[in-house]
Amino acid sequence: MISQEKSVILIVDDSYVSRALLAKIFSAEYQVVEAEDGAEALAKMRRIPDLAAVILDIQMPVMNGYEVLQIMQKDEELCNIPVIVDTASDDDESQLQALDYGAADVLIKPFNSKICRMRVRNTILRQAAAREKAHSELLELQLKTSEMDDKADVYNRRTFCRMAENYIHEHPEDELLFVNIDIDRFKVFNDVFGLATGDRLLRMLGDVCRSMQAEMIYGRWEADHFVFCLKRSEFHAEEFLTGFSTAASRQFPDFEFVFRIGVYEIQNRELDISLMCDRALLALRSIKEDYLHHIAFYDDSMRMEMRREQEIIGEMEKALESGQFVVYLQPQVDYAGNCLHGAEALVRWIHPERGVISPGEFIPIFEQNGFISKLDEYVWKQTCILIRSWLDEGIPTVPISVNISRHDIYNPRLAEIISGLLKQYQLEPEMLRLEITESAYMEDPRQLTRTVDALRQLGFSVEMDDFGSGYSSLNMLRDVPVDMLKLDMRFLGGDSEDTRGGSILASVVRMAHWIHLPVLAEGVETREQAEYLKSIGCLYMQGYYFYRPIPAKEFKQLLQQKSNDHGRITTFEDDDAAGTADFLSPSAQATLLFNSYVGGAAIIESDGTNIEALRVNDRFIELLGTTMEEYSKVQTHLLDRFDAENQEKFINTIRTAIETEQETRCELCSLPFKPGEEKIYTSINLRCLARNASRYVFYMAMDNITQQVHLQQQNRRLNEHLSAVMNSVPCGIFQFSINHENFYHGTLLEYNDTAWKMMGYRRREDYPQHDNGDPRMADIYPTDIPLFVKTAEQARDADYSERFTCENRMVKQDGSVRWVSTLFQ
Ligand code: C2E
Ligand code: CA
Ligand code: CA
Repeated sequence: MISQEKSVILIVDDSYVSRALLAKIFSAEYQVVEAEDGAEALAKMRRIPDLAAVILDIQMPVMNGYEVLQIMQKDEELCNIPVIVDTASDDDESQLQALDYGAADVLIKPFNSKICRMRVRNTILRQAAAREKAHSELLELQLKTSEMDDKADVYNRRTFCRMAENYIHEHPEDELLFVNIDIDRFKVFNDVFGLATGDRLLRMLGDVCRSMQAEMIYGRWEADHFVFCLKRSEFHAEEFLTGFSTAASRQFPDFEFVFRIGVYEIQNRELDISLMCDRALLALRSIKEDYLHHIAFYDDSMRMEMRREQEIIGEMEKALESGQFVVYLQPQVDYAGNCLHGAEALVRWIHPERGVISPGEFIPIFEQNGFISKLDEYVWKQTCILIRSWLDEGIPTVPISVNISRHDIYNPRLAEIISGLLKQYQLEPEMLRLEITESAYMEDPRQLTRTVDALRQLGFSVEMDDFGSGYSSLNMLRDVPVDMLKLDMRFLGGDSEDTRGGSILASVVRMAHWIHLPVLAEGVETREQAEYLKSIGCLYMQGYYFYRPIPAKEFKQLLQQKSNDHGRITTFEDDDAAGTADFLSPSAQATLLFNSYVGGAAIIESDGTNIEALRVNDRFIELLGTTMEEYSKVQTHLLDRFDAENQEKFINTIRTAIETEQETRCELCSLPFKPGEEKIYTSINLRCLARNASRYVFYMAMDNITQQVHLQQQNRRLNEHLSAVMNSVPCGIFQFSINHENFYHGTLLEYNDTAWKMMGYRRREDYPQHDNGDPRMADIYPTDIPLFVKTAEQARDADYSERFTCENRMVKQDGSVRWVSTLFQ
């Protein structure tokens, strides 16, 4: 039995006497175990846990001490047991060798018991100390790594909580904030660029945190959420936001970053840190879809809201099953034609206790938890059932617009589901219009474009809902081919009395018409609004002024009353200049729209002799390499920017644009803005927008092509140089390209002066151009053609540096024959 109290040492010696001696020396202090040879010793070492030390004889039969040491060194478990060897006093060599093999110390025969005990005790203590140190280092490392977030190298959630708690208690007098920052569409970023790049982004954001000057505790909460705890006086929201977004955009310029901040002002200092985080998150969520606000503060109503949300989520499934969701219809009118244009299906939740709940309350929640897809499909189905029932009753119907939420756009089965419904209820695709929302574009433009394409292929007309609510605006329309725009008066502040709002609306309508998109305005509440809309050419309308969303039964009665033109969508074109003036308004939104439109663009006006730029966008100025200030000096007399030749070109292009009413293109070379600078080559597209008695207004898209032109010029110069060289050579050079398959066909590209002279012609022009005929086979003496072609083929198959020649005859202009040596290269 091995006692628990004393440390164990193993004495290995083949001599019984030595073992007995050593055991006597050590047994008072240690529990002694003995072994007679190396093999037995190793077996015992493996069996005894926490062996304190081994006293090892070097000279032993079977396996000597060195071998034991070697095996121990290589063994992960045994290498840490300290070994003290015993040898004869005169044997220096073997002592050294033993130490070399890893022994910790030596005992010298004959044994001095005091020294022996001291040496063994010291060795054991040293070993224990070393083990202790290694152990604590390991612990420290583990502790350190588990304190940090491995992606961003900032505190992880646990550490952050601990540190923040301390910080809050250490600053009882200060006003403190809990800040939560988050990246919009981080998932999309990961999808597009891959997880590894996503991780790089997180690491970079960690760097940004570290580089911030404020005194604060910060860490990564989860995913793309970074959290901060700091004094109010240290918090500068704008600096936070720009710090993050500049760094991110610099490293990943292809992604449009939006960072948002939610703030909880720490009032209850005893609150759990994770609850503080929840509150900051609630604040953050309140601006999730908001393009104007990037920062929000928590207030208690948010918590109430959350509770209500929980209720809605708890009841939604049951409500759908028991038919509490009901489709209402809001008629859309053709104001000028005074007839029904269509209707929009809008869902209502008829709650048994709470009455009618408006979609504004539950749709955003369903959009977040994905239930919207189920509800949408239900609404589409109910809508199809309604249309089918009207048709069955012989009531003339109008197309019904249904809402396709962002969630649906990602559903690869979307087209299949909708066309399945049509089939089931035997409806034509023209009977359903599909409304998609602009914000989906910002989330994932490619996916939206794919979905819209697929739906239109099936014959559906697709409407862009809430156009102008975001900021992607016209750029998007280039990519997403929709059939109609829906503008919300409320987003655009479309009030005829408010001139600013009015002009925004007008410019959007006008621009939509440029690209031949019909527009429907919704949220029309007054007669004035309707009249105003009509005056700017927006004829389709929806709003309380006409009808509120009404139950299907009421809508059916309406259908029965009104006969209509089945809501055909027609494009509207106008020719008066009213809208243009609005377009020129300095309002922020109009500027934004204009600036985001295509590339360089200008609105110019001409009376046939003078050309004036009424308005240019930022890109236009940028492309010309000038500044607004500089350009404003020349914009009233644009023709001064050109020489006579280009002035004429410009005026002619303007004439063509007026006459053809088409987009007209030309390339112009304008004078440099500063003497000594290079001329600027541009390519412009002109479209006539409007006219009055004597003036025309144009939209002009412009691109700077100076570099291309320079390249072309350079190319031309090179060619000229080449032919000059060719003509100075005293032999005939023919450059021809030959058909790879058939060498009897080819085109003569170039020849030098010696060539035509050699063939007996008097002028270059006289030399016949056999274009797509043969490589001047006509000049080669007929029986020499096979040899000629063979050599050409050899040259074709060989290396470029190799040369091939053949001696052949050629027929001159006068029919005489001359021998030539042809070199192929
Ligand atoms: P939306 O698609 O922009 O629908 C138009 C909203 O404007 C409707 O609100 C409508 O009642 C309201 N509206 C119409 N004319 C006027 C007016 O003159 N003045 C004012 N102030 N409001 C007017 P509603 O029905 O409350 O729907 C709100 C939003 O909920 C909808 O906005 C739509 O985004 C969503 N929604 C409604 N039904 C559905 C649905 O079945 N599926 C999906 N995915 N979303 C739906
Ligand atoms: Ca809608
Ligand atoms: Ca809308």
